[in-house]
Amino acid sequence: MATSTPVSIPSKMKAWVYGQYGKPEDVLRLESEVDVPEVNDEQVLIKVAAASLNPVDIKMMAGLFKATDSPVPTVAGYDVAGVVVKVGSKVKEFNVGDEVYGDIHEHALNNPKGSGSLSEYAAVEEKVVALKPKNLSFAEAASLPLAVETAYGGLERAGFSAGQSILVLGGAGGVGSLVVQLAKHVFGASKVAATSCAGKLELLKTLGADLAIDYKRDKYEDLPEKFDVVYDTVGESGRGNKAVKEGGSVVTIVGGRPVIPPAFVFDVTSTGTVLNTLKPFIEEEKLKPVIDPKSPFPFSHTIEAFSHLQTGRGTGKAVIYPI
Ligand code: NDP
Repeated sequence: MATSTPVSIPSKMKAWVYGQYGKPEDVLRLESEVDVPEVNDEQVLIKVAAASLNPVDIKMMAGLFKATDSPVPTVAGYDVAGVVVKVGSKVKEFNVGDEVYGDIHEHALNNPKGSGSLSEYAAVEEKVVALKPKNLSFAEAASLPLAVETAYGGLERAGFSAGQSILVLGGAGGVGSLVVQLAKHVFGASKVAATSCAGKLELLKTLGADLAIDYKRDKYEDLPEKFDVVYDTVGESGRGNKAVKEGGSVVTIVGGRPVIPPAFVFDVTSTGTVLNTLKPFIEEEKLKPVIDPKSPFPFSHTIEAFSHLQTGRGTGKAVIYPI
């Protein structure tokens, strides 16, 4: 059992709650008398410093996954960074005072906790969190977990390895901006191509893309060269199939539409193991958080942050800080 120095914890907290399904601006409310969640034996209680938003927050709130969702009212939010203030009796790796981060829902769509990260406190299984790299601020750390675990897991599932080429569809988004960096600086790609609108092509190059493609001007599937792997973050796996080499892999993270082989869908499972694996690369700044220029949004402006995310035109991640 981890040591624990008692910290004063209130019984009520502020949290962004939705009691019915709909758009964030219609259903999400900042409540101030929400019960601080109890920790079970395997959980740590985190005093939340920062959170980040993901498209899945909006999809859950819209009721797209009612069948597997936890019942409303629900505190929204997946990604968290903060300080451990309490540990369950079976927690081994963490102590009170540790600075941690993680995606608090092990399975994004299946039975998520009713109490998410857009709150002052979050109760989280120790297996889905990791110690925050010291060179990251809380806001930077909160931007990473769900997106980087998706990026890394999808590359692994596609069998991506050193010396291979990759085309990243949506290279400037929350997940895509990390796929580009991972492919180039962690997996050792021979060539990284990525798509974005014209205004984000320079960013793609900064992240490590050798070829930045303006998707409004050029059709990547018409390029003479083909790629070992195509990583689709925008829902274009059919076109991705035309850009991959014979025998290559097309991984898409966008469900809800037909996916034809060789394309396949990858769904993230939250785990602190990926964050620990990537820690040296983060500390060496081979992998850097990409925070949307409009961020951070203060906690009270969370609806504005969701409105920005809903445009689908963000750059990197929308972060909520301070909380
Ligand atoms: P973002 O909101 O960060 O994506 C926005 C980005 O997408 C913008 O930078 C935009 O760039 C870019 N974009 C939009 N359309 C295109 C296009 N046609 N071509 C190239 N770029 C485009 O989303 P995330 O990266 O967080 O998530 C992406 C998708 O993946 C979502 O549908 C999300 O739900 C899903 N997802 C699935 C997961 C899983 O486990 N299966 C996990 C995580 C996310 P621009 O302005 O240049 O168009």
